Amino acid sequence: MSLILVLNSGSSSIKYELIDMAGPVTVAEGLVERIGEETSRVEHVAQGMSYLIERPLVDHRAGLAAMAEAFDATVPVDPAALTAVGHRVVHGGDRFSQPAVIDDEVLDAIRECIPLAPLHNPANLTGIEVALQAFPDCPHVAVFDTAFHQTMPPASYRYAIDREVAAAHRIRRYGFHGTSHAFVSRRAAEFLDIPLDTSRIITLHLGNGASACAIRNGASIDTSMGLTPLAGLVMGTRSGDIDPGALLHLLREGMSVEDVDSLLNKRSGMKGLTGDNDLRQVHAAAATGDAHAVEALEVYVHAIRHYVGAYLAELGGADALVFTAGVGENDAAVREAVCAGLAPLGIAIDAGKNASTRGPNEVVNLTARGAPVQVLVVPTNEELEIATQSLASVRSSAIE
Ligand code: ADP
Repeated sequence: MSLILVLNSGSSSIKYELIDMAGPVTVAEGLVERIGEETSRVEHVAQGMSYLIERPLVDHRAGLAAMAEAFDATVPVDPAALTAVGHRVVHGGDRFSQPAVIDDEVLDAIRECIPLAPLHNPANLTGIEVALQAFPDCPHVAVFDTAFHQTMPPASYRYAIDREVAAAHRIRRYGFHGTSHAFVSRRAAEFLDIPLDTSRIITLHLGNGASACAIRNGASIDTSMGLTPLAGLVMGTRSGDIDPGALLHLLREGMSVEDVDSLLNKRSGMKGLTGDNDLRQVHAAAATGDAHAVEALEVYVHAIRHYVGAYLAELGGADALVFTAGVGENDAAVREAVCAGLAPLGIAIDAGKNASTRGPNEVVNLTARGAPVQVLVVPTNEELEIATQSLASVRSSAIE
């Protein structure tokens, strides 16, 4: 039996899932939230049992201790039975193209990437440091959101700015959501029974954060996020692509760097255009004739189609177009609008299949009869991908 504990540590939260890779099946999962506040809580679900802890948890160490308490109260797990702890790490810079078994050198390298992800990497590191103490007897593996995209060629990752400035500040396209793009592209190839290593797949991860990826022969060759997760598609609260001159203009007009940061990351995207970041609410508003909501959906879809077109050109066509994450998996109207009128490019979906309900984790093929590009809904599972990569990493380091 291989038990992998997956940890995704944020600044005030720890999302966790214990996966028995023999299934694979989820043994337990939960969320420690509002760490450092009076109202901290742990919501834990194990084999149908729910368990709630509500008490102040001062730091991540207390958070992990509360998680262990929730396990003890539901499905006790002997820490010695863990094969590995897999950690989600947002930014691995250009240093990591694979997951890495964590040692001091890897910790230093993650630390060196803090300037590239000042909000995420410090929290990821705190989670790792605390977990190393809580689970000292098994290997810990860092799985990076950026790693999958390290196969991009310079034509995709290079920004056309002064080389020395770019090198000094490590400015280039890195891309994110790598575990999700890797997971759904692999599943798509399995589902279609085509070899991943001779395939062309476009994946659309449309959640609160959103990104598109062009995948040739199983490797990312381009993606819409950039140096940071701000670039590319219109997101829940993030702007996506915007002329960098607009930032300069705002700064010159007197906005502070912090204001611009919060504008682009927290008050833009669907939130900025409609007041709500949740597509369900935006659709509801659009249905009542709210002009801003109608327009915002058009802007949202326009950005996605822009990347689908670009990636069809880069890949020279596609075998599959994959929708995933909250919006991609659930929003038939967005999928329909993205694919509308693309039959000349090989993309056409069946309205009935697009509207059909789907079981959890079920892949659905939406392709209209005769259309060459297979359009799929593939539910993502980033935790399972982190666990899979962690296990592979531990096994290959044992062989070395
Ligand atoms: P995250 O990026 O935070 O992991 P998810 O992938 O779960 O998020 O996506 C969350 C978003 O998915 C929500 O904000 C909402 O906009 C959208 N969403 C979820 N369910 C639906 C639905 N049934 N219809 C349309 N949009 C949905």
